[in-house]
Amino acid sequence: MPEFEVAIVTGAASGIGRALSVHYAQRGVRTVIGTFPGDPHDPEETLRRVKDAGGAGVIHEVDVRSTESVDAFARRAVDEYGRLDYAVANAGILRNAPLHELFDERWNDMLDVDLTGVLRTLRAGAAHMSEGGSMVAVSSIAGGVYGWEEHAHYAAAKAGVLGLVRSVAVELGPRQVRANAVIPGLIETPQSLDPVNSLGPEGLERAGRDIPWGRVGRPEEVAEVIGFLTSPAANYVTGQALVVDGGLTVK
Ligand code: NAD
Repeated sequence: MPEFEVAIVTGAASGIGRALSVHYAQRGVRTVIGTFPGDPHDPEETLRRVKDAGGAGVIHEVDVRSTESVDAFARRAVDEYGRLDYAVANAGILRNAPLHELFDERWNDMLDVDLTGVLRTLRAGAAHMSEGGSMVAVSSIAGGVYGWEEHAHYAAAKAGVLGLVRSVAVELGPRQVRANAVIPGLIETPQSLDPVNSLGPEGLERAGRDIPWGRVGRPEEVAEVIGFLTSPAANYVTGQALVVDGGLTVK
């Protein structure tokens, strides 16, 4: 076992990515905290929470729309800590668009972040991993089992993530490097709290009452599952997608 493990997490200035950085800190995993240039969220707050949890990390600006930027992000882990064990493709955007307005530009912008951004992250991560390396991509129930009006481009990107992960898992299996996905349901984060592109605070509260668990999820509840999937406890789990939705989609 190495003295410590090292992770890269995209979109870690907020939401699930921030919660995951803190989870890793609690486990002694050092994290390169990916922050998006111009992000309204504060990556310093993520780092402060990582340190409060007794962990270590560094902030690194990364735009998943750029191969060069993502490659430099993955390299930062090796430059800073000498190794890379876990890569989490968490960054994502959510925009609504009815089908009759879903023209190429909007479609391509969405896929560039939510699908190709995942490819760039897994590809860059895998390049630095050796046996025991593990990757997780964040999909969505909209990409697997749940239709959502005015979100066809988001759903298509998130469905693509599931296929991507399965094939990557098969390809990297012989290297003993794993790839899995999580499929969050409704989780209270800046993304879902946006009343324009998602449900907003009141919509979330209402939707939560219909979920068997009685409420929407917390980012920490997704982070724990990503943490498990990347950990050695899931050593023989690869190519899978785990739904984290409080029972929303089995109701
Ligand atoms: P969030 O908005 O807090 O996090 C998304 C992060 O991605 C932000 O920090 C943002 O700055 C970053 N980002 C956006 N564009 C980027 C780019 N080009 N390069 C790098 N980073 C970029 O919301 P979240 O809910 O924590 O989202 C995390 C992931 O979970 C996303 O992939 C999202 O689609 C997925 N998800 C969320 C929910 C939910 O209910 N919140 C449900 C299913 C899936």
